[in-house]
Amino acid sequence: MIEIKDKADCCGCTACASACPHNAITMQPDAMGFLYPVVDKGKCIECGLCEKVCAFNDHYDISANILAPDCYGSRHKDIAEVETSRSGAAFIALSDVVRKSGGIVYGAGYDGHFRVVHKRAVTREERNEFKGSKYVQSDLQGVFRQIRKDLQDGLTVLFSGTPCQTAGLASFIGKKLSMNLYLADIVCHGVPSPYVWRDYLEYIEKKHGCSVRCVNFRDKGKYGWHDHQQTFEFDNMSTGEGRSFSFLFYRHIIFRKSCGNCHFCNTRRPSDITLGDFWGWEKTDPDINKDDKGISLLLVNTGKGRQLLESAKHDLILLPARLEDCLQPNLQQPTRMHPARDKFERLYARKGFLCAMRRYGDIGWRYRLAKPFLGLLSSETKYRLKKLIYRI
Ligand SMILES: Cc1cc2nc3c(=O)[nH]c(=O)nc-3n(C[C@H](O)[C@H](O)[C@H](O)COP(=O)(O)OP(=O)(O)OC[C@H]3O[C@@H](n4cnc5c(N)ncnc54)[C@H](O)[C@@H]3O)c2cc1C
Ligand code: SF4
Ligand code: SF4
Ligand code: SF4
Repeated sequence: MIEIKDKADCCGCTACASACPHNAITMQPDAMGFLYPVVDKGKCIECGLCEKVCAFNDHYDISANILAPDCYGSRHKDIAEVETSRSGAAFIALSDVVRKSGGIVYGAGYDGHFRVVHKRAVTREERNEFKGSKYVQSDLQGVFRQIRKDLQDGLTVLFSGTPCQTAGLASFIGKKLSMNLYLADIVCHGVPSPYVWRDYLEYIEKKHGCSVRCVNFRDKGKYGWHDHQQTFEFDNMSTGEGRSFSFLFYRHIIFRKSCGNCHFCNTRRPSDITLGDFWGWEKTDPDINKDDKGISLLLVNTGKGRQLLESAKHDLILLPARLEDCLQPNLQQPTRMHPARDKFERLYARKGFLCAMRRYGDIGWRYRLAKPFLGLLSSETKYRLKKLIYRI
C-alpha cells in the first residue's frame, strides 16, 4: 500500500486514491492545504494497485512520444482570445477542436470562493473558465474517475493540467481506454499552497473592506504579458492590485515539496502537447510578440498531438521554432526550493498567514529594510544579507 515517507515524493495527483478498488485512500490536506493520500488500513487488502499506478517517478510512460518534440511559437488568430488567455491562447484553439466535435474538456477552474479545482466542461462558457493560469495547486479529487466514465461512454476527452497531473491520469486510465484521451500539460514552475492563497485573498478583502468578485492572477491587459501583477475586482465595483502572492511565488517558498523534486522538467513530456509561455520568442521572430500581448510555446510530443494540432491550426498563427531556442529553465531542471521553505510552513502552521508574510513576504520591516540595498549588492552579498535577515 502507498505510504508517503517523504512529501517530496508525492505530487498529489490522486491516481492512487482513484485506483483503489476498496476506496481505502482519502486525500488529506497538510498545514499548507496540499493533499496527500492516507490509507484506511481497515479497508486495505494490500493488493498493491496504488503503488503500481503512481507515476511520480522517472519511469513514467513516454512510449508514444516522437524522438524529439515538434516546436512552435503560436498565437490564436482571434486577438480577443489572446487578450483573455495567459499566453497566446493555444489552449483555446486545441480545446475548441475537442469541444466542437462533441468531446469534453477538463481544466482548472474555481469552486466556491476562488478555490482552484479541476472541472468538466461541455459548453464554450464552461471551458472559458479554464482560461488563464491559476497559480495555485488545483484539487483533482473525483476527476480521474469521472474522466474514465466519459471514456467508457465513448466520449473524446481533452485533459489540461500540470505534467504530474497528466502523468498520473495517463497511468490511471491505462492504454486500453486511452485512444480518445488527449493530454495537454503546461511547462511548470511549481504550484503554490491552496491555504496560503485562501488566506491571501482574505487579507486583500480585509484591506479593501469588501469581497473579491473577480481575480486575475496575471493581468497582462494592464501590465503586459511579461509582467506578473495580480489584479482584483471587488463587490462594490472598485478594483485593486497586489504583488505579495507573486512575490512568494518567485521566492519558491510556498510551493508543494514535490516541485523541487519534479520528474517532468525536461522535454520527455507525459502528454500529447505541452503549452507554455514562449520566453525567448525574439530568437525565432523578432516581431511576433512586439505588442507584448502574449505568445504560446507549443511542444508536440506524440502522433496524437500532431493530429490534434493539424485540426486546430486554422485558428492559429504557427511559427516553427528550434527546440534549443525554447529551453527555458523548467524544461531543463526543477525549480530550486527556497532554503526556508519548511520554516515558512512551520511558522505559517503555528502563527498564521500574516506572521509568515511579515517574516518571509514583502510586507514586514525585514523586507522594507532589505529592499533599498538589494539593487546595489552583488548576488553573493545579497544572499548573505537575506540569510541574516530572514534567518535561513
Ligand atoms: C502553476 C503554473 C505554473 C506555470 N509555470 C510556467 C512556466 O514556468 N513556464 C511557462 O512557460 N509556462 C508556465 N505555466 C503555463 C502558462 O502560464 C500558461 O498556462 C500556458 O502557456 C497556456 O497558456 P494559453 O494562453 O495557451 O492558455 P490559457 O487559456 O491561459 O489556459 C490555461 C491552461 O492552463 C491550465 N491551468 C491553469 N491553471 C492551472 C492549475 N493551477 N493547475 C493545472 N492547470 C492549470 C488550464 O486547465 C488551461 O489548460 C504555468 C502555469 C501554471 C498554472
Ligand atoms: S493496496 Fe490496494 S486496497 Fe490497499 S490502499 Fe492500495 S489499492 Fe487500496
Ligand atoms: S503522486 Fe499521485 S499516485 Fe503517487 S502517491 Fe501521490 S497522489 Fe498517489
Ligand atoms: S513542478 Fe512538477 S511536481 Fe510541481 S506541480 Fe509542476 S509538474 Fe507537478
